[in-house]
Amino acid sequence: MAIVEIRVGDVVRLRKPHPCGGTDWRVMRTGADVAARCLTCNHRVMIERPVFERRIKAFLARGPEPPLA
Ligand SMILES: [Zn+2]
Repeated sequence: MAIVEIRVGDVVRLRKPHPCGGTDWRVMRTGADVAARCLTCNHRVMIERPVFERRIKAFLARGPEPPLA
């Protein structure tokens, strides 16, 4: 799978399940680290962007496209 730009508002399924059993996350913030909220238990985590990108299995929903610079 090609690397896709991560957007705030994306809902992604990750390869590695959270300890709560959930696999789906909503992206809250992007940057050097990605902040994501587990949709199953509502826990918030920070993951380094390259690590987060590698863990993405699928996009379930995409956030709005960022405005062009
Ligand atoms: Zn969870």
